[in-house]
Amino acid sequence: MNSSTKNQDPRSQKNIQNFSSSKFPNFDICIIGGGPAGLEAGIVAKELDANVIIIDDNPVLGGQLIKQTHKFFGSKAHYCGVRGIDIAKILTDMVDELKIDVLNNATVVGYYDDDTLGVLKEDKLFPIKAKIYIFAAGASENMLVFENSDLPGVYGAGAVQTMMNVYGVVPGKRALVIGSGNIGLIVPYQLLQAGVEVAAIIEILDKIGGYYVHAAKIKRAGVPIYLRHTIIQAKGKDCVEAAVITQVGDKFENLKGTEKTIECDMILIAIGLSPLCELLYQAGCRIDYVPELGGNVPYHNENMMTSKSHIFVCGDLACIEEASTAMLEGKIAGAKAYETLYKENKKSNEIIVQANKELSNIRSSPFEQRILSGKEKMR
Ligand SMILES: Cc1cc2nc3c(=O)[nH]c(=O)nc-3n(C[C@H](O)[C@H](O)[C@H](O)COP(=O)(O)OP(=O)(O)OC[C@H]3O[C@@H](n4cnc5c(N)ncnc54)[C@H](O)[C@@H]3O)c2cc1C
Repeated sequence: MNSSTKNQDPRSQKNIQNFSSSKFPNFDICIIGGGPAGLEAGIVAKELDANVIIIDDNPVLGGQLIKQTHKFFGSKAHYCGVRGIDIAKILTDMVDELKIDVLNNATVVGYYDDDTLGVLKEDKLFPIKAKIYIFAAGASENMLVFENSDLPGVYGAGAVQTMMNVYGVVPGKRALVIGSGNIGLIVPYQLLQAGVEVAAIIEILDKIGGYYVHAAKIKRAGVPIYLRHTIIQAKGKDCVEAAVITQVGDKFENLKGTEKTIECDMILIAIGLSPLCELLYQAGCRIDYVPELGGNVPYHNENMMTSKSHIFVCGDLACIEEASTAMLEGKIAGAKAYETLYKENKKSNEIIVQANKELSNIRSSPFEQRILSGKEKMR
């Protein structure tokens, strides 16, 4: 941020006028976030002939996919058997082919009263205006507080995945993983592949949270998974040298006398994600607390429209789920945004019907009942 904008209230209207004037034209649809949800929204809207821009704060498009070296599950239609990084490439190639405007390395930092976005790129703030906004900003990792949880060596599991799979940095020698959801099972497997020892995965519940197939792989590799355990302390002077874990009782109370010290130089926190809805708060959208969807989430109807008819959401920002469902929600958001601007046509209608059909199929699995009940709660 340059010195002229540094100390100003980022929400003040006057401030927006002080931004360097934009070389960007007004857009029909502006998409915030270039992960699978935002990319599909952009592709669909552009194919329907809307004028679209995608803004993403990373140097390359793909969101979480760019760090996912494992092959995806699900059906062929949703890239089953394809690695996340390759899905990112397929979607990015489509964006290029369609000549969709993309603004990389650019962060949307504010939503202003005249429905303008403040965008920060290379130390410059400038406005972007569109008729419709689709927020697809994803989620942030949940953190855990315990003694010394601020020691270097305590990481979010996603951060470790970024270090290894995007930047090729081996993050440590011996890891303890907290949480056994899919992220807590996949990232340690990738650590093993990178030659890092995994001391254990601990889980506070009495059952593993992620898919059994991931858990089986990790168990076959000899990594113990301790259920009904939590971490109470990180040990070390300047960085993590060990962790103290303990068993928990029926009320999740620490059971005295069960403490165990595990030597490790990394503690990976994989205890879930929270939708990144700060910009939606700024935009004045209704935000509901729906634990099944990941906590505070922007209200949205079955068309992915928020409480404001010119703002749509999709993907992990709307509910913490999967890349497959994020892409389908993106398609619905893109097509509905187009229909809101122009009008329904055969093609837009077909896209929405097909995406809804595929979403229902995926969400009919027992793993997805939580999501369905969360979405219903919101209606
Ligand atoms: C370890 C791991 C393994 C997974 N494995 C699978 C799997 O096997 N199968 C599967 O289907 N799913 C899997 N997922 C889940 C999947 O990756 C996510 O559900 C999916 O990426 C969500 O897509 P999205 O587009 O909503 O968000 P994201 O992929 O998070 O993309 C959001 C993008 O928006 C950008 N952004 C955020 N805020 C701003 C801002 N203010 N300005 C500009 N840009 C912004 C972010 O940097 C990011 O690039 C996995 C996730 C993880 C972490």
